[in-house]
Amino acid sequence: MTALRLYNTLSRQTEPFAPADGRTVRMYTCGPTIYNPAHLGNFRTFLFEDLLRRTLRLAGYDVVQVMNLTDVDDKIITRAAATGQTIRQVTEPIEAIFHADRRFLRIEDAEHYPRATDYIPQMIALVQRLLDNGVAYRAEDGSVYFAIGKFPGYGKLSRLDTREIKSGARVAQDEYSKDNAQDFALWKAAKPEDEAAEAAWDAPFGRGRPGWHLECSAMAMDLLGETIDLHAGGIDLVFPHHEDEIAQSEAATGQPFARCWCHGEFLLVDGSKMAKRIGNVANVQDLRDQRIPAPAIRHFFFTTHYRKQLNLVPEGVEASIEAVRRIGTFADRLATAQGGTPALAAAAAEARTAFRAALLDDLNAPEAMAALFVFIKRANAELDAGGADAAALAAARAVFAEMDGVLDLVPSREVDAEFAASVAAQLAERKAARQARDFARADAIRDALRAQGVEIEDGPMGTSWKVL
Ligand code: AMP
Ligand code: ZN
Repeated sequence: MTALRLYNTLSRQTEPFAPADGRTVRMYTCGPTIYNPAHLGNFRTFLFEDLLRRTLRLAGYDVVQVMNLTDVDDKIITRAAATGQTIRQVTEPIEAIFHADRRFLRIEDAEHYPRATDYIPQMIALVQRLLDNGVAYRAEDGSVYFAIGKFPGYGKLSRLDTREIKSGARVAQDEYSKDNAQDFALWKAAKPEDEAAEAAWDAPFGRGRPGWHLECSAMAMDLLGETIDLHAGGIDLVFPHHEDEIAQSEAATGQPFARCWCHGEFLLVDGSKMAKRIGNVANVQDLRDQRIPAPAIRHFFFTTHYRKQLNLVPEGVEASIEAVRRIGTFADRLATAQGGTPALAAAAAEARTAFRAALLDDLNAPEAMAALFVFIKRANAELDAGGADAAALAAARAVFAEMDGVLDLVPSREVDAEFAASVAAQLAERKAARQARDFARADAIRDALRAQGVEIEDGPMGTSWKVL
């Protein structure tokens, strides 16, 4: 059987991966900052991690996954100050939205979702350890910084030359008291707005709050141990976030922090990263409003390898809606079939081999989905041929269940499939009419759909519809 291989950002190579104890993968995934609902770019990363988690199990391992929730940071405090709330009041509703959204996208539950504010004692202990080891210092402003010059391994993940880092760095106005422009805050001295938002804690080295990088190191080591198997996140976290996590953790323990680092590429819109500050975000509520089924978004994201950038384009989402509809139709057929042919069993066995080989080769989801569709085509042909081989049918069902156990692409039956197909046909007709500039016809189709109780909407992800 093929062994799992993953691209490790630390070595810049695709290499064999197995957990240190041979059984359980201890995995840390950087989670959302909960001050705004996560957008689809964030969810591309979380879906890549869902695929990673499910592939680890396909490879035969147990998984203990931690996804932290960042509930104290600059943006949250700014929001709290603007609305006269505490940080908890800002983050609590967003945390609930995050879980609802990820469930909508069928992202499996991680074993732990620690909130940063529940791990303050562990964070204080880590800062103290770094001060004791002489790699951190308390500056005039009362904050504690990590001295990157004291940690020889600094830059090993991002491979940035430290001199480059220094000369290229901007020195923020309020960070004048650092020894080195690139030294980063482990602990930020409390300011009045932190106190007002209940974002300040007592510590032996002064009242304050944790820095973002510190939060992850402390929670990862507390829940998973000093050396973890796998650490994942979006590509933008390589520097400085993950570089700094390594520095703090390894300077404290003297042990390697994570054995393997995996990073997912960006979701783009018109060639730019989907990001709040660019103003091009779409979120899960938009999917719900536009009646885009979750499996279609999973399918759309999985059409591109996680280490390649992916543009969010309406045609792609529309094609994925159609693709998962086909998968759903096949799932129903397989569930109600009475028997198969010996060739059905052969097709299942081949599909399983191809599917596993693709995913175990650094999560090649596009190839895994190709294996699924080859199987659907062959299985449909065999089911057309009839046959009464119960074992062959059972084999086909088992293989399909294994594949869907990783990809999770069968649409739920909220909407009657036939009705959905008929709406899709009318939408295709309307699209053709619009392309032919026959707008009267296009409008007539819209009216006809409305008469059937269907409201359509032309949006950035194509035309979507909902039943009124
Ligand atoms: P944040 O809440 O900003 O810390 O981001 C949460 C996760 O989403 C991180 O792993 C980021 O790297 C990731 N992320 C942010 N924007 C994008 C994007 N456009 N595409 C893919 N991942 C993203
Ligand atoms: Zn992190």
